[in-house]
Amino acid sequence: MRKIFLGLSLLLVIFLGLGGINIFAGIDEDSELIPAPQRKIVVFREGASIPERNAVLKQLGTKIKGMRHHNLVNATSVVIPENIEEVEAEILRNPNVKAIEPDIVFTALPLRNPHSERFIRPSGTKPTPQPSQVIPWGISRINAPQAWGTSTGTGVNVAILDTGIQLNHPDLQVNIKGGINTINPRKTPNDDNGHGTHVAGIVAAVNNSIGVVGVAPEANLYAVKVLNAAGSGYLSDIIEGLEWCISRGMDVANMSFGASSDSPIFHEAITNAYNAGIVLVAAAGNDGGSTLYPAAYNEVIAVAASDENNQIPSWSNRGKIDFTAPGVSIYSTYKGSKYKTLSGTSMASPHVAGVCALLLQIKPTYSPRDVYATLSKPGNTVDLGYTQSIQGYGLVDAYKVITNP
Ligand code: CA
Repeated sequence: MRKIFLGLSLLLVIFLGLGGINIFAGIDEDSELIPAPQRKIVVFREGASIPERNAVLKQLGTKIKGMRHHNLVNATSVVIPENIEEVEAEILRNPNVKAIEPDIVFTALPLRNPHSERFIRPSGTKPTPQPSQVIPWGISRINAPQAWGTSTGTGVNVAILDTGIQLNHPDLQVNIKGGINTINPRKTPNDDNGHGTHVAGIVAAVNNSIGVVGVAPEANLYAVKVLNAAGSGYLSDIIEGLEWCISRGMDVANMSFGASSDSPIFHEAITNAYNAGIVLVAAAGNDGGSTLYPAAYNEVIAVAASDENNQIPSWSNRGKIDFTAPGVSIYSTYKGSKYKTLSGTSMASPHVAGVCALLLQIKPTYSPRDVYATLSKPGNTVDLGYTQSIQGYGLVDAYKVITNP
């Protein structure tokens, strides 16, 4: 709605594919990842043009495959099939090249823990039509229904960077306005895992007579598929997803995934998306350790998980935490037109993304900095009694945010 279209659509990734082969040509199964050590991101000096980048890489001939230019960050991802160290050294000798970074793998953040299984309702093999709509406990806890008299997220664009979304899910379909599959551009961003559909439902499941309802039930959902069927994705695919978000005028981007390694090129991509006006929200992580990336970056809102008793489980990561939201036993939409109960900071993050959408409907000119300032205003969160490094500013409250923007 409010977003300035930066014209980046013209700069979208160009597939060059040395020798007519691009990186996707050999991948039939989306779950099959090329071994990470072969995948690199070549970072060029500032101002290096596309022809200059091509000149650097083309002279390597068949030593590299599958170039993808990432204009958002002045970098090009490549695959080095063999003699990795030698080829890297050769690339680095070129004065136009600043650095080479690994194309690291990020993973979705539902709780992978046998104890979470008991929260999963038996769903059988057939779709389970809901006799009537229920309001999941997390939606009530953050007082979203009280906010709907004022805002439902209408006109606000929320990108779900995830495993995709089931595009024809009966409780999501009318809110899904578009998307992209950066893993396999020949395919739609339909969800082949289930995680992204669950996350999307927490943000914006439709307020109708079936299933569940999301925090911002009239927000526009965009499926940005950057994670494969196994819930994993490369940094290069995520950077491409962020480029798409900027070019398509996204207002909010939810990232329920993480990795423990910091990456300068990822931080640059995140900073550029932030500066383009996108409110970035991410899951803190579920291993009880330090906040994962991208949540750990200052430009990203890091979200911890709480349960029905307002307790923060020991597995919710800590360190750089901004807010807490419901993330235990969360019932939401799932692939196969189903519904499922899942736990994890993956489920907490979209509660906050939904609150951001509610706020942006009534304050469409707010920058990411303004949104953060409103969410963290005294009185706009609930203190759960933990330290800042565990709960951040506390539990988000949609109604308080809307009434005190
Ligand atoms: Ca519904």
